[in-house]
Amino acid sequence: MGILIKNVMILTMDEDRGIIDNGYILIKNNKFKKISFGEYKGEFSDLQVIDGEGYCALPGLVNCHTHAAMTILRGYGEGLPLMKWLNEKIWPMESKFKEEHIKFATEFACLEMLSTGSTCFNNMYFYEDQIIDIVESLKIRSVLGSAIIGEEWEKQMEVAINIDKRVKNSKSGLLNSMLAPHSPYTLDKSALKEIAKEAEKLECGIHIHVAETEEEINIIKDKYNMTPCEFLEETGIFNNRVVAAHCVHLNDGDIEIIHKRNVSPVYNPQSNMKLASGVARISEMMDKNINVCIGTDGTSSNNNLNMFEEMETAALLQKLWYKNPTKLDGKTVLKMATLNGGRALGINKLGKIKEGYLGDLILINLNKPSLIPNHDIYSNIVFSANGSEVEYVIINGEILMKKGEFFNIDKEKIVYNFKNMCRKL
Ligand SMILES: [Zn+2]
Repeated sequence: MGILIKNVMILTMDEDRGIIDNGYILIKNNKFKKISFGEYKGEFSDLQVIDGEGYCALPGLVNCHTHAAMTILRGYGEGLPLMKWLNEKIWPMESKFKEEHIKFATEFACLEMLSTGSTCFNNMYFYEDQIIDIVESLKIRSVLGSAIIGEEWEKQMEVAINIDKRVKNSKSGLLNSMLAPHSPYTLDKSALKEIAKEAEKLECGIHIHVAETEEEINIIKDKYNMTPCEFLEETGIFNNRVVAAHCVHLNDGDIEIIHKRNVSPVYNPQSNMKLASGVARISEMMDKNINVCIGTDGTSSNNNLNMFEEMETAALLQKLWYKNPTKLDGKTVLKMATLNGGRALGINKLGKIKEGYLGDLILINLNKPSLIPNHDIYSNIVFSANGSEVEYVIINGEILMKKGEFFNIDKEKIVYNFKNMCRKL
């Protein structure tokens, strides 16, 4: 069984191929088998055919930093300063969460991500072992990071190691895992050193919040007389493949460390703006060829999981910050949200529509008002689209959304369960 998408415009995100104005995509098993301009002349038997006339195909978007189950906390405790908000609203509410809350909330988050074109997400939260079956049955690609935070870190690391084992034994090809120490200010030095060593042993990579606020910079300076990046380098965390969320407050030396250690910073502009954390020096990092990717962060600080919105804000904020409209053009931002995302997560062959790459793509409807006229497709996607243009979602060579409707996913049931649970909570 395979999928043929014919008569379609293709954004390959491959430097050699660029844009194919009218061509076809053949997907076999879970990979792209053939990409070409013109008409498909091969065998049709055993193929599901999608007429791509009026559509543009692009690699699925990769959300590199989120806390999926925080959908329960969307819009909860708004407008408070960060510490008051966390202490009085978010943390007391999170302490009430049980496995079933995490399950329903994650399932619902996956619906939101899929419907706005994200085909892969990098998660950090609790009870990650409870969502393995959910993400596998929904057939979305994910990286599970079981949060490690505070005094209980040893117990939590054991949980994370077990999840890594389950993920490595999984046959779906959709699951990945990382160790997810919360941040340099919520774990002490000895804990971070142990986590760094364990990640090296597991070869799984590390997902961590880094230099998100000025307050964090002050805490680490008071405690160790270092910046968060210097401190993480000393603990050995950076000996691993690291996905570093935020990286808002970096000095020149920190950017050098990130560069030298091949750390992938995740830019979360909407969360940084909403919590008034600051503006990351993304454009300067991109100029140094640092692998910057994009994430939404959780829905309590965004408040949605829409990567189209995030791409637009990503570009707008850098342009304004540097007072320079040439910063972060549409193509660059789309590359950050696709190819750079795959690289950051260590998923080889993700983020291009190219022979041999993983068969993850979305089709957007070019006849939606937001995409007409089409002078520059990259610019239309980043600055004009809002996610409602996504009508087909294919992950690992399987169709999950078709003509704007979920396929083999019981959307009504997921929405009902989630609403019901939120009401009770
Ligand atoms: Zn976060």
